[in-house]
Amino acid sequence: MQDYLSNIQYNNDTENSVNVPFGRISEWYLANHPLLKDRRLKCLSRLYTSGLVKEGIINVQRVEGAVDFAEWTTRTNEMKSTNRIRDGNGHGDELLKQINSKKKDKLCWSWIMYCAGDGTTCQRACGGIGNCKEGCINSQFSNGLKNYNDMHLCNVRVKSEVRITSLTKSHPLKITIQGNHVPQSMLLNSTPKVQRLNLLRNVRDKILISIRADHMSTKEIKAKLLVSNNGADENTLSSALNSQKVICTNDKLKQLIAHDDKRFKDNAEDSPQRFYQLTLSDEFWLKNA
Ligand SMILES: [Zn+2]
Ligand SMILES: [Zn+2]
Repeated sequence: MQDYLSNIQYNNDTENSVNVPFGRISEWYLANHPLLKDRRLKCLSRLYTSGLVKEGIINVQRVEGAVDFAEWTTRTNEMKSTNRIRDGNGHGDELLKQINSKKKDKLCWSWIMYCAGDGTTCQRACGGIGNCKEGCINSQFSNGLKNYNDMHLCNVRVKSEVRITSLTKSHPLKITIQGNHVPQSMLLNSTPKVQRLNLLRNVRDKILISIRADHMSTKEIKAKLLVSNNGADENTLSSALNSQKVICTNDKLKQLIAHDDKRFKDNAEDSPQRFYQLTLSDEFWLKNA
């Protein structure tokens, strides 16, 4: 944990952003941030990528499951360069010149996550806390949402982005957290109960590998998940279970497995459980490695 902490670079800017390396640290940061600790985040499914993608300098791929990866992914998404340095052919210099001139410091990756607004501890866009105000259009919908990616339930946003010039730095991923669950003047004495799966990506990976590769039963997997909480006191355990980030109930575990089976079979294009991978062209690495 200490290792993770020392890897967070706190930026001295008005938006209180941080920069982190790609990988587990960003997820760790989000899972432990006071504003996000017991909250469930949703990802906007629309992914912003710049023209650099079209030109083949950066490649963004959807990846079927994290199991395919040795490395982990951020909660904000898979951010991992897999290209290896190969022998150059001169073409790289030309591309790099283009990047450096025209496309200087362009955004090459941007992703927004937002609070799912579980329970009654978030203020909705219409002003109601935990419930819609009378007359709100969203109140016509049973869950207060027009669609899965509706941001009506809370205004907390987590912005993550990578700029072209930061790609070669040690902490390329910039994370900014905006908004509040409720007005800051309000007193809150309850934490939301997270009803839906909220497991960290690396925990999901562990579960999926256990099933797909090791053919473990749900009972065995549960035991494996509990190991991380060995020796924890009752409070820690119950808060871990409430946030559903490192352990989950048996029912939820079964749901996850069933969902994974189905996804495996359907190969569903629009599965909400998406993993993306950011790959840089060989040329880029050649010059910057
Ligand atoms: Zn509303
Ligand atoms: Zn919220």
